[in-house]
Amino acid sequence: MTGRMELDRNKLVVVTGAGGFIGGHLVGELRRRGFERVRAVDVKPADRWYQNHAGVEEVRADLRDADACRDAAAGASTVVNLACDMGGMGFIETHKADCMVSVLINTHLLVAARDAGVERYLFGSSACVYAADKQTDTDVTALREEDAYPAMPEDGYGWEKLFGERMCRHFMEDYGISVRVPRFHNVYGPHGTYDGGREKAPAAICRKVIRAQLDGTNAIEIWGDGKQTRSFTYIDDTIEGIFRLLESDVTEPINIGSSQLVTINELVGIVEGIAGVKLERRYKLDAPQGVRGRNSDNTLIREKLGWEPSTTLEEGLAATYAWIHEQLTSGAHDEAALAFRL
Ligand code: NAD
Repeated sequence: MTGRMELDRNKLVVVTGAGGFIGGHLVGELRRRGFERVRAVDVKPADRWYQNHAGVEEVRADLRDADACRDAAAGASTVVNLACDMGGMGFIETHKADCMVSVLINTHLLVAARDAGVERYLFGSSACVYAADKQTDTDVTALREEDAYPAMPEDGYGWEKLFGERMCRHFMEDYGISVRVPRFHNVYGPHGTYDGGREKAPAAICRKVIRAQLDGTNAIEIWGDGKQTRSFTYIDDTIEGIFRLLESDVTEPINIGSSQLVTINELVGIVEGIAGVKLERRYKLDAPQGVRGRNSDNTLIREKLGWEPSTTLEEGLAATYAWIHEQLTSGAHDEAALAFRL
C-alpha cells in the first residue's frame, strides 16, 4: 500500500459537475466527513441538480469558459473535476462532438488550478479510454491500466478522456500539480440519470421493468442480443474509491470499478428478481451497444489502495430500483432535469 495524504477538512474543496450523479453524492459525502468549505459548480440551474446539500456554496457556471474556470478554482486547495457532457451508450455514440468539447472544461480548469496554486486535482476519467481491440469478446480478460495503450479508445468520449488524462500527467510533470486520475467503470445508483437519453444500462433496465409493470405490457426491450458483458459499480463504492484515491499518493490512472462480470441478460434477470416479475424480452439488434465485453482488473487498486469495490449487483440494484420506482410513482419524476441540454 502507498502513503496516505489526508485532506485538510478546513480548506476549500471544489467539485465540478456537482449537479450530476457522482458529483451530487461526492458533495454530500464531503459534508458528512466534516469538510467545512465545499464549492459545488455546475452549468445547470441549482433547482435541476440531482442533489442539493446544506452548507455548500452552489455556483452555476459554464466551465467551457476560461474565466468561469478561474472563478471556480479561486482559493481552492483541492479540485475534483466531474463536469462533462456525457451519458450512456445511446448518448455517446450519437454525440461524439459534444463529448469532445468537454476537453475545454478540463483544459481551462487545469490552467486555472495551476494559477490558483491548487494542491490536488482529480479528473474523472473512464473505462472508455481502453483500446477497443481488447474488448471484442464477451469472455473478457479484465482491463489493466496499461491496456489503454496503444491508444484506440471509444470514439469521441474516450478520446476526450484519454486526452484529459495526459493533460493531467503533463501538468503534474511541468507544473507540479498533484493529480489523481480514477477510471470509473459504469457507475449506477440512486440520484442518477434513469430517463431522457443519457441513462446507462442499470438505470434504464430498472425503469423499463418498472414501466412494463405499470403499463401492463410485461415486455422489455433490450439493446443488442443481451450477451454483451460488463461490470457495474455501485455509487457508494465509487465515492469511497474517490476518497481513498484523493487521500493517497497515487498519481497514475487507476481503475475504480467492480469486477463482478455479467451479461446484459443476467442484469435484466437480477432486476426482474428484485421486481418479482418475468418479462417477455424483445431484442433490438440495431441499438447502440458499445464494446462486446468489458471488466475491471483490480490488481493495481488492491496493491496501491488496499481496497476494491465490493457491493454486489444484487445489493446495489435493489437500492437503485427502489429509488427509480419511487421517482416514477410518487410524482417526483422530473422530465426537465433529466432532459437538460447545454
Ligand atoms: P452526470 O452527467 O450526471 O454529471 C456531469 C455534470 O457535469 C452534469 O450535471 C452537467 O450538467 C455538468 N456539466 C456538463 N457540462 C458542463 C459545463 N460546461 N460546465 C459545468 N458543468 C457541466 O455524469 P456523472 O455520471 O456524474 O459523471 C461524472 C464524471 O465521471 C464525468 O466526467 C464522467 O465522464 C465520468 N464517468 C462517469 C461514469 C458513470 O458511469 N457515471 C463512468 C465513467 C466516467
